[in-house]
Amino acid sequence: MEYKNDIMTNKPNILIVYTGGTIGMVKDYKTKALKVFDFSQIVDKIPELKQLDCHIDSLSFEELIDSSNMNTHYYVQITEIIEANYEKYDGFVILTGSDTMSYISSTISFMFENLQKPIIFTGSQLPIGDLRTDAKENLITTIEIAAARKNGKPVISEVCLYFEYKLYRANRTTKINAEQFEAFTSMNYPPLAESGVHLNFNEHLLHSQKNTAEKLVVRKKLDTNIAILKLFPGITKNVVESLLNIKDLKGIVLETYGAGNAPTQDWFIDLLKAAIQNGILIVNVTQCVGGSVILGHYETSVALKEIGVVNGKDITTESAIAKLMYLLGQDLDVKSFKMFFERSLRGEIS
Ligand code: ASP
Repeated sequence: MEYKNDIMTNKPNILIVYTGGTIGMVKDYKTKALKVFDFSQIVDKIPELKQLDCHIDSLSFEELIDSSNMNTHYYVQITEIIEANYEKYDGFVILTGSDTMSYISSTISFMFENLQKPIIFTGSQLPIGDLRTDAKENLITTIEIAAARKNGKPVISEVCLYFEYKLYRANRTTKINAEQFEAFTSMNYPPLAESGVHLNFNEHLLHSQKNTAEKLVVRKKLDTNIAILKLFPGITKNVVESLLNIKDLKGIVLETYGAGNAPTQDWFIDLLKAAIQNGILIVNVTQCVGGSVILGHYETSVALKEIGVVNGKDITTESAIAKLMYLLGQDLDVKSFKMFFERSLRGEIS
């Protein structure tokens, strides 16, 4: 692990953690191929960073990864870096590929309880070494937000994602575009800040800092024995049955239609009912990018409610996966699992 550290104390200290992804690439002038940029020299390579009113250190994963290769092992690695440096730094900027950034950042949001400092994820659609890159704006503004303070306290004290002029609550985001710079959206929760001529924080939307005496709790146990069951007209019994009978399966994110609706055929409801009776937790999340599950609103969701499907309300699929891994890792009984899943733990549910 590469580590550059020469803290000055009078300005906010920001730690950048680079895990991989497009943002850290530069073009080799000879071969024209994209290669990884040495983040230990970030302040020298992007001189604009010197103008920021903060002190920046950086650290890179030894083995840089495309975010398609992300997994819970790396989540724990990111978490441990932040935990080990929590007292030393005032804010954390985590650079990952954008492809799975919503999953990664949503999970990290659950892993930190009583967070009092900003952890902000960003990346880019074009490499930092590209002339038209979106990386510089994303990185510079993210650092500025991570360093922002009001009355001696960080303005942001939650896990966020910054991309293309908008700061979002991380566990509300979804990647919606593979080409445009505006790659993310947060349909069910407005941006926490917007960057234009001024950097405007929507203060009423921010996670309000609780009693500072509450100690940071870091939970690293995640259970990956889960799956997504996305419904589509024509889905067969064979497919649903096979999925629900996966060995060691503990939880399912059931992606339903509209306001949480699903087929009412007996074979479908019976399969779900049997799975629930066998201890599998099934969470209902809508396939729509915006809006909420309202169990029982239509006849087509009444049976789901009756058999004990958990109401995911307006949570995103990414955040539901994260919360499922997290809560399953806490060894809760079914009643407590349902109670915690259906209420907001980190602002992920309205
Ligand atoms: N494939 C890249 C990744 O997610 C794309 C990006 O960095 O935006 O790692």
